Amino acid sequence: MFHRVDLALAPFEPYAELLDPNLTENLRSLAQEMRGARIVHVNSTPVGGGVAEILRSLVPVSKGLGLDMDWYVITPSRNFFDVTKKLHNLLQGADGHLTPEEMETYTQYGGEANSLDFGPLAGDVWFLHDPQLLPLIPLIPEGRRPLVIWVCHIDLSTPNEGTLDAVLPNIHLADAKVFSMPAYVPPSLGDAAVYVIPPAIDPLSVKNQSMPMDKALSFLSNMGIDTSRPLVTQVSRFDPWKDPWGVVDAYKEAKKAIPDLQLAYLGASHAADDPEGKKILESLKAYVNNDGDIHLYGDSDIPLQVVDRVVNAFQTASDVILQKSIREGFGLTVTEAMWKSQPVIGGNVGGIRAQIQDGANGFLVDSVDQCASQIVKLLEKPEFKNSLGAAARESVRSRFLLPRLLRDYLQVAVEHVKPRQEAATEAIHPGD
Ligand code: UDP
Repeated sequence: MFHRVDLALAPFEPYAELLDPNLTENLRSLAQEMRGARIVHVNSTPVGGGVAEILRSLVPVSKGLGLDMDWYVITPSRNFFDVTKKLHNLLQGADGHLTPEEMETYTQYGGEANSLDFGPLAGDVWFLHDPQLLPLIPLIPEGRRPLVIWVCHIDLSTPNEGTLDAVLPNIHLADAKVFSMPAYVPPSLGDAAVYVIPPAIDPLSVKNQSMPMDKALSFLSNMGIDTSRPLVTQVSRFDPWKDPWGVVDAYKEAKKAIPDLQLAYLGASHAADDPEGKKILESLKAYVNNDGDIHLYGDSDIPLQVVDRVVNAFQTASDVILQKSIREGFGLTVTEAMWKSQPVIGGNVGGIRAQIQDGANGFLVDSVDQCASQIVKLLEKPEFKNSLGAAARESVRSRFLLPRLLRDYLQVAVEHVKPRQEAATEAIHPGD
């Protein structure tokens, strides 16, 4: 049920060159404090989606700082992910509820709960990511309970209340709870042991390291894009909250002013925990109605081994990047594109609002029409686009690079581990 994701150490020094010196110092001293403690991250998929993206970089860099850190994924039955995808949608505000059978599948990991072997996970601090991991908390054997930090990456600002109520008891069981934005903290949690920590990107990963423009353009050309004509792109799973239909509508509207415009939608996330994507891609194909300038890419169009480079190429060489979500926990795709000096046009929701300052480093939009008119503006005013793009890159550098996220996670761990260690010492040597 627990599968370790093997990752080599990554040296920290190249990151330090990008950071403000006080962040580097702060991070090194927290890493020093956590030396000797084993930290384990657990989530539900080794590839696809934002959490896997973060852990793939966070764990190697942590090792580079001398931390003892590992990453495990759960491998329950496929049925479990159908249920947790529904749960994810409900927690982000969809109507409905989990049936008693679905609830059983969720809380029992598709029937595997009784045979869980926690042995490999033994450690001092567990970071459990997202609602898929909540049912694990009450199953942890009492004698070996680590410090449990639950990290919620989704948008809980307008949840389906009945569904939130059903998972709240397990959230309460965590020693600390982390949310991406203040608005996502369920009010009933109060302030105790609740933290707001936005995610971050790895500036040195294959997906985010700087790619020469000619190389990026040759990738686009190989993917069937006419690189002599303007291109608007959205990189996102095929998911209703990413508003793929709105993306197509905005492109069609903008095309009235820019007739040679093309659209690319990259939804090759290869996410094991998102069984919904294929259906949405099929319905979107019908919706675009054979427009040869619309390019939709699913998992089967971009093999896993090259997807990071292809995403990098599209984020680097597209003329306009959209993230037209109608709910968004944070939106790493926004951060990734902004790091490549792209002023992103993003839906005025959730974590996108924390990243884009409207008119200063990108645009926030509330409708298809607004989105279309900002596409046209960016295409018609390249100098304005470049100045917004420079501001976009700097805002990511100062706020949303991976070492800042690691610093914030370690801060939570240190804050909670120390009192536990002191209590344990007191129990063994009272009054020392
Ligand atoms: N992604 C990808 N290929 C795709 C679409 C998405 O690698 O075709 C990646 C994207 O680059 C980002 C992550 O999946 O790193 C999506 O994270 P985000 O926070 O934007 O959304 P989530 O999928 O977690 O809702």
